[in-house]
Amino acid sequence: MHTVNDHALIPVGISACLLGHKVRYDGGHKRSKYCLNVLSECFEFRPFCPEVSIGLSTPREPIRLVGSAEAPRVVGTKDPSLDVTEPLQRYADEVGQAQPDLCGYILMQGSPSCGMERVKVYHENGMPNVAGSGAYAARLMKNNPALPVEEEGRLNDAILRENFITRVFVYHAWRQEVMQQPSLHEVIQFHSRHKYQLMAHSYEGYKALGKYLAEEASELPLTQVLETYILRLMTFLKNRASRKSHTNVLMHIMGYLKKEIDTDTKQDLLEAIEQYRTNKVHLVVPLALLKHYLKRHGSEYIRTQAYLDPYPHELGLRNYI
Ligand code: SF4
Repeated sequence: MHTVNDHALIPVGISACLLGHKVRYDGGHKRSKYCLNVLSECFEFRPFCPEVSIGLSTPREPIRLVGSAEAPRVVGTKDPSLDVTEPLQRYADEVGQAQPDLCGYILMQGSPSCGMERVKVYHENGMPNVAGSGAYAARLMKNNPALPVEEEGRLNDAILRENFITRVFVYHAWRQEVMQQPSLHEVIQFHSRHKYQLMAHSYEGYKALGKYLAEEASELPLTQVLETYILRLMTFLKNRASRKSHTNVLMHIMGYLKKEIDTDTKQDLLEAIEQYRTNKVHLVVPLALLKHYLKRHGSEYIRTQAYLDPYPHELGLRNYI
């Protein structure tokens, strides 16, 4: 089981201004209480300010994205001859190479360097054009497509928050449990432990990855399997898990108890799941009940499912979804 105290902190990159560093163009910061007060209990934050790291001063002339959404340039707002596109991209390459153990990244929204999406891209004449990604963030995500990345603003949404933190913990577990001594056997074991977690996010993904490991993987080079599996898993996990898909998983898990519990207990469990399905209680309610009975009657296989304890319960994430 995960607890905040018995786990090594997970290395996660973060836009430095979110940790309160005064590195913004106006000399200010964008301190995130949630990151500093809550997530820092689980994550070892590694702050990066790409603009300061490429040599821009603080305070400084603001920069913005200009051109197309796919390949915007990052130029000075007042002085368009100041073009820092390549330096920002090179810095993203450097961070990726120097920090290969990062298991997630939290970015500052709206920034022409750090914004993950929906950053304004302007026409040359200064009129807003389309939306794109900041130059540093775009390169970071391109270089590390499996890395869980999220914007701090989106962590206010309970479902997105739970989704991101789940992905960070899965990615960290992958590094610890498979990549230390990789083998196809370890990948299959890992998949087996994450089956229900994957099912909650994507039934299609659950089927597809099971088939891939059972029918294709043994014929392929291990390096290819490792790369393909984790990228596909992390992509499927980005899907929002819904009440419907969680209900499906809860019913599957309850199936492991059927023979061991009496009719009244079974009825209690079904009622709790139904209350969750119909939006009357949060996920923590049916899960707490299920876990209680699994502890006594569950097989090793079901009790070790990552879905039951995907992250330290102190984060309370399932109290809100
Ligand atoms: S958003 Fe990124 S580039 Fe801008 S101040 Fe924050 S860390 Fe630096």
